[in-house]
Amino acid sequence: MVRIFTLACPKCNKRFEVHYEELRHKKIKLHCPYCDNWFLQTESKDIDDRW
Ligand SMILES: [Zn+2]
Repeated sequence: MVRIFTLACPKCNKRFEVHYEELRHKKIKLHCPYCDNWFLQTESKDIDDRW
């Protein structure tokens, strides 16, 4: 099973899923599929990384 986390885009506030192992706690910009925004996960105010 692939672990994922969800977070809200700081620009449009919509939530989307990201692969946990690949991206969580890394300084990589994430891409919002809704508004085409690129942001660091530290910019998101709402991160849910429960299982
Ligand atoms: Zn967005």
